[in-house]
Amino acid sequence: MVQTVVVREPGGPWVLEEARLPEPGAGQVHVRVDAVGLCRTDVSLAHGGLPTKFPLVPGHEGVGTVLTAGPGAGYSAGDRVVFVWTAPCGSCWYCARGEGALCERPPAEGRTPSVELSDGTLVVPGLGLGAFAEEIVASVASVRALPIPLPDAQAAVLGCAVSTGFGAVRSTAGVAAGESVVVIGAGGVGLCAIQTAKDVGAGPVIAVDPVAERRDLALKYGADLALEPGLTLPARVREVTDGRGADHVLECVGKSATIRQAWTLARRGGQVIVVGAGAKTDLVQFSALELFHSGKTLRGSVHGSFDVDSELGLLCERVAAGAYDLAGLVGEPMGLDRMPEALAALDAGSGGRSVFAPALTRARR
Ligand SMILES: [Zn+2]
Ligand SMILES: [Zn+2]
Repeated sequence: MVQTVVVREPGGPWVLEEARLPEPGAGQVHVRVDAVGLCRTDVSLAHGGLPTKFPLVPGHEGVGTVLTAGPGAGYSAGDRVVFVWTAPCGSCWYCARGEGALCERPPAEGRTPSVELSDGTLVVPGLGLGAFAEEIVASVASVRALPIPLPDAQAAVLGCAVSTGFGAVRSTAGVAAGESVVVIGAGGVGLCAIQTAKDVGAGPVIAVDPVAERRDLALKYGADLALEPGLTLPARVREVTDGRGADHVLECVGKSATIRQAWTLARRGGQVIVVGAGAKTDLVQFSALELFHSGKTLRGSVHGSFDVDSELGLLCERVAAGAYDLAGLVGEPMGLDRMPEALAALDAGSGGRSVFAPALTRARR
């Protein structure tokens, strides 16, 4: 039996439970979860804002060690793997084009209840991973060998916060040196987007966040300016962009209000990139005239358009070169029993990324 975090219905409590995992089948690996980060997408998923089945185990940003591998999996016991929630199959039309984040063959694991609780209830591993657990069984599409040595907590955030921020700036937006970038939302993904923008030589890089602690973090991570949202925000951004507005605005929140705000901050002909995962019920309005006359591009960015199979190498190279302060981004790893305080911190917008080391979990009995 392993300890795992279970959410029984949309919006329900996150409860630590004991569960039994299936044996890994063909193309699957059984992995010990060494570290797993809490991402806002987990909360959206658990609230039913994103399509999923319930009950579910949240958790999709992590790193682990292969314990056993099913037939044809191509991994051996002891291999260190990073989790990839977009699970590119590597062979479909999208994957062949280098658009693995849009893979059209999501693994069945994310729709199939396979984790058995002690009362017999079968639970779905969220996004095919269900990584808030001591161990998982996942498709090989959901993991990749980690090419560089990194402490567990830092390796965990490569799987979502870092790769999303990296991809959104480099792959989706294609930010070039000297271009201006606004990042709305200085959480895990936003802070990594800021560091990526600095790494490619962009400037000015402007962070926008209502929480003072996060604005301070954004400055520490290289933002040239950190601003509060509000009525004077567009004027402040125009002030530092020769009166035009920003070349690129990355919305890392996933809400209609911040998408509208992003639109306002982009220059004519500029780009608005929606990086945050929002809810299907949250509608954004644009007039036909403003879409035409502004000449702006509005683009969605699933996992930062990060194509793990062609870009993980470069990402790891930039990490090894010190482009990202990962040690500062992640807090001290904690046991899964401390999930409530991590959820409260995420809600309050305090601190960087909460990361768990499931081995530290105190038994619930
Ligand atoms: Zn995530
Ligand atoms: Zn594919």
